[in-house]
This record gives sequence, C-alpha cells and structure tokens, in this order.
Amino acid sequence: MREQALSGHLDSMRKNATGRAAPPPLEFMSEAPLSRPRKRLFIGLVTGTSVLLCLFMLIGWVIPLVGFGNIHPSVPWVTGILLAACILVIAWASLGLVLQISIGRNFWGASRVRGIAIKFFLPVMELLARLFGIRAEEVRRSFIKVNNELTAKQCGRIDPDRILMLLPHCLQRADCPLRLSYTVDACERCGRCPIAGFLALRDAYGARLAIATGGTIARRIVVETRPALILAVACERDLTSGIQDTHPLPVFGILNCRPEGPCRNTVVSLEIMENALRRFARLETLPAAMVCTREKA
Ligand code: SF4
Repeated sequence: MREQALSGHLDSMRKNATGRAAPPPLEFMSEAPLSRPRKRLFIGLVTGTSVLLCLFMLIGWVIPLVGFGNIHPSVPWVTGILLAACILVIAWASLGLVLQISIGRNFWGASRVRGIAIKFFLPVMELLARLFGIRAEEVRRSFIKVNNELTAKQCGRIDPDRILMLLPHCLQRADCPLRLSYTVDACERCGRCPIAGFLALRDAYGARLAIATGGTIARRIVVETRPALILAVACERDLTSGIQDTHPLPVFGILNCRPEGPCRNTVVSLEIMENALRRFARLETLPAAMVCTREKA
C-alpha cells in the first residue's frame, strides 16, 4: 500500500512536470502569520510607487521650466524629452512587472529590468506602505511570495547538485560548541536543532548545503558553488536583500520563525524545504519517500 501511494505521488509529480496539471502552490512560511501575505499588496504598491515617481519627475520639470528657458530656449525641450524617456522606462518596468506577477508571463523583456526595478522600488514601496499603516515586514512577505511564485513558474527541473540550500547560522543551537561555517559536516547530528534534518535532506536528495553567518559570506558561498537555484532560509529582511543581491539567479525563499527573538535558536519547517526540493530537483533523482514523513513514521 505504502509503495503504491509513493509511486502515485511520484506519478502526479511527473504529470505536473509535463504541464498537464498545475503544480500545487509551494508553502514558504514556517509558521502561520497573523495575516497571509498578499500578492495584491505588492501589485498595488508597485503601481502606486511608479505613479508617484512619475508625478515627482513631472513636478520637478514644470517648476524650473521658466528658469531653463532663460539658459537657452531649447533646454526645456531637451530636459522634457529626457524626462519623458525616464517616465516611459518606469511605466514599462512597473507595468511589465505587474503583468508578469498577475499572468505569470514575461512581457516586453520586463524580467531583465525586474531586478533593477525591485531594487529601486522596494524602499519607496516600504515608505508608501508606512503612510497607510502597513508594516515593512508585510511588504517584504508579499515580495517573497511574489518572487517565489515567479521562481516556481520560471524554473524547470534542475540537477540536485546545482541546488544550494543556504541556511542562516541562527538555526544552529546557540549553545552548540561546533563550528559549522567551514563545513556543515562538523555537525554531530544530535538533533537539538534543524541542522541535523537538513543534513538528512542533503544526503537523500544530493543537493548542496551551506551555512552563512552574514550577507558577505552568503555571497561568497554563491560565487564558489555557482548554483542554478538557491533554496534560502532566513527572516523577511535577509531574504529580501538576498533575493535582490543575487538577481537574476533564482531564489526560493523560506521564512524561519523566531520563538526566542531575532537571530537566536530560530527554527524552520523541514517539510517546506523538502517539498521545494521535490518541486525543483530532477525527477529521476528524487527518493521514493519523503524524508520528513519517513522520520515521523
Ligand atoms: S544538530 Fe546538534 S550538533 Fe548539529 S548543529 Fe545542531 S546542536 Fe550542534
């Protein structure tokens, strides 16, 4: 019976991979939040931010128009044309981004400017959200949700050794004396923190596993391992900046939870990571059974 259930599970995954059935959405939050991250919030903020930026540019052009004319009669027109070009680029980037998020398809090459748009828009979006009483964390969660959906739509199946599971050092027990930043294999798998579970996942799926103690180390690991996909675990702030930094490299972000406050003994759902591995790893490399389910049984 169990064998049948497992082969049925693999069959359905293969069916999903051929596009005959829509793959189920991947969860990315280790704990249920007070409010679910909303894609609409991100779309609304992108639109609001681009409209605001365009308005500011227009005002910045109209007010000194008379002064420009005194320099030379053609200066207002030249600055006007440059400004119109900037407004067109902003409108193209934001509209392309919104359409890509809503329909899931890349329009007018907008994915190329996605990283730049996100980098410049996100801080303004957070400011705009604050005006409406929306916390920065909520904006970042909706950004991670949107990013994950785009990654899931754009990424095909990848060899597991090109998938990097990148973890923050705060998942390790604060009182564990072992140093894991050089090699995760120094872990003795005592099971007091999620690192032992991640090692089991790495061994079963053949993916890569690394622990980063900060943004600089994370960037170094990415440069050294040259993955095709990163499955990153972190808090909202670190995931957001990590996704921005590594663009166009696809990142699937998984949020950890912080029962003891930030950066100390954080935890994460191994099942969410395993589901992500099963979604992205090449089918013939998948173990028949879920490691997490096996360990629970
Ligand atoms: S599983 Fe045990 S040995 Fe490994 S990092 Fe966690 S606390 Fe240390």
